[in-house]
Amino acid sequence: MKPAKLSFINGRPTIVDYDTRVRHDNDQAYNYHRRVADDEYVGFYKSQEWRTLRKQILERDLGLCQRCGMPAELVDHIIPSKDDWDDRLNPDNLQSLCRECHRIKTKREWMKHHKGSERYMEVNMVCGLPASGKTTYVKRHMTDHDLIYDYDELMQALTGLPSRSRNHDVHDYIMLFLDQMLRKLKAEQTFNNVWIIRTLPDERIDGLLANYHHVNHILIDTDPKICLQRLKQRKQTIAFTEILNSFEKADFKHFRRVKNR
Ligand SMILES: [Zn+2]
Repeated sequence: MKPAKLSFINGRPTIVDYDTRVRHDNDQAYNYHRRVADDEYVGFYKSQEWRTLRKQILERDLGLCQRCGMPAELVDHIIPSKDDWDDRLNPDNLQSLCRECHRIKTKREWMKHHKGSERYMEVNMVCGLPASGKTTYVKRHMTDHDLIYDYDELMQALTGLPSRSRNHDVHDYIMLFLDQMLRKLKAEQTFNNVWIIRTLPDERIDGLLANYHHVNHILIDTDPKICLQRLKQRKQTIAFTEILNSFEKADFKHFRRVKNR
């Protein structure tokens, strides 16, 4: 058991973990120190000390994002510097990240800070051409408590047909399953993330998610020539030109584009 201490929160005696710092927002001295701390915070990120260390960390991590392996763009405090100021220069608390992974991490931290430990689940629609790297993207960004709904995998599993064959009757059942699944998921928020992997956007799915706040639309933006090359290497024969046609007509306005090299 962690050592505890007695503290006063909103005037009530409360037992808290020994290392908990209790805030006194109305306390003048507290506010004064916070102001000083904010200046110190901004100053820190401008300091030569930080710039040098930042460069060293990027070199240590070989310029790669430590979560997904893509080129790193920034250096992140694993435990946010605001939460643990003393550890701000500890290399063990620093990691190189790409912008996308940093965005995901920061959003989680924000939610945790503002909503406590209340569970919330993000639904990520991941679209892109066949062989554009959708599954790879999901595997790089998923946590250990996620649900992956991969349309093509389901189609294959339920028809017993070779990869990328289509059966329109089975399509209806796969979509029915998604309808039911999303209803239950929205109510229960069972997972950290739900990943919906599809080639094209789908208005029916967007409709089902219309009143859900944590939805991301991600487009894996890969050159069609590269996709086709990969499909040939995998000896997958599909009607690529047809798919590319509908893909180019599709509306990706509200999608965030992730470049895949
Ligand atoms: Zn990354």
